[in-house]
Amino acid sequence: MSTDSCAFGKPANFSATSKQLVCVDPSDKAYAKVEELFQKGWKHREKEKPVIHTLYEVICSQRSLDSYAEHKFQYRKRANEQLLFHGTSQACSFGMSPSNMALCHIPSCSLCSIVWNSFDVQKCGTRHHFQRFGRGIYVTSCSSKADDYFLGNPSISHSRVLLVNRVIVGKAAKYRFNATTLIKPPRGYNSVIGIPGGDLSYEETVVYHNDAIRPAYVVIYGKAPTVIPSMEAMPATVMEGLSCIQNTMTSQSSETQCICNLGVNQAVLCDLKSCGICNVVKSSFKTFAFGEHANNGRFGEGVYSYRNPQLADKFATSCTSSPYRVTIACDVVVENMVEVPESESLFVATADAIIPAYVIMYSA
Ligand SMILES: [Zn+2]
Ligand SMILES: [Zn+2]
Repeated sequence: MSTDSCAFGKPANFSATSKQLVCVDPSDKAYAKVEELFQKGWKHREKEKPVIHTLYEVICSQRSLDSYAEHKFQYRKRANEQLLFHGTSQACSFGMSPSNMALCHIPSCSLCSIVWNSFDVQKCGTRHHFQRFGRGIYVTSCSSKADDYFLGNPSISHSRVLLVNRVIVGKAAKYRFNATTLIKPPRGYNSVIGIPGGDLSYEETVVYHNDAIRPAYVVIYGKAPTVIPSMEAMPATVMEGLSCIQNTMTSQSSETQCICNLGVNQAVLCDLKSCGICNVVKSSFKTFAFGEHANNGRFGEGVYSYRNPQLADKFATSCTSSPYRVTIACDVVVENMVEVPESESLFVATADAIIPAYVIMYSA
């Protein structure tokens, strides 16, 4: 029986498909092919060989595929199409867990930008000022070299991400030494391949036309992605059995340091003054983020909670340093006969009337 890496963690309502990405099953031929290229291409002896956790296929728009096909057609039988790796920077938490397939629109997130819009020669190399073979799009068969260019946020995740791309290499001009002023391949050639021996230790391939390349797969590899047990053990329906859902009302802005990495790597509460969740859990609602002693709402100062988890979700923190949204499920003391409204907040004037019971981490 093959293990379905995409079902890793199996969150309750997880679907392995998004508009741009489809999870590739490990039993699929494409998976075996990419895995072989990835492992064969891992040439740096000093870097431990990682394992692939998840493989996604990139679904390009029809228009994007058409312009690639048109470009390829010009080459007839000499397209020399190859699958080559590209490592770039990632600003979001996409891929941290297989259920986190949401691509971002953060301008500094090159990874998502390429999946959305493919490559753009103009944008390439803006991060790396040095371009060995001039202004082009750089890919390589050496996965461990592409890995050098991946820039994630290790405080979020130890998983790493590479793009596997279809590249029309055509007839390649081979270079052993740098040629930094190139803006197109030399006459009679379609691309440039840097071969090891001179200035390079590992192969790299450069194309100079946007339509000579399309992202084909996204590989997530490295250390196993962390799945928070509470996220799986707490499907939405369980919440109804809890008295109330409370959310701290701070940290709504993703501009500020919103929450810590609670639950991302381990269940450790942070000491951040700005962390609404950890402050509330530690003080049992006596201290909120930034040392505030109460929420302020329609009944004045006190603690506001919600029976309806959807309402609580509106106040849930969401930030780029964690893939999860966080809600605190709590027990609230209310007077006998008081109906807790479904559609409105429940107010208690004192922190003694409410205790945090569970921290629920979930993803959209
Ligand atoms: Zn992103
Ligand atoms: Zn925290």
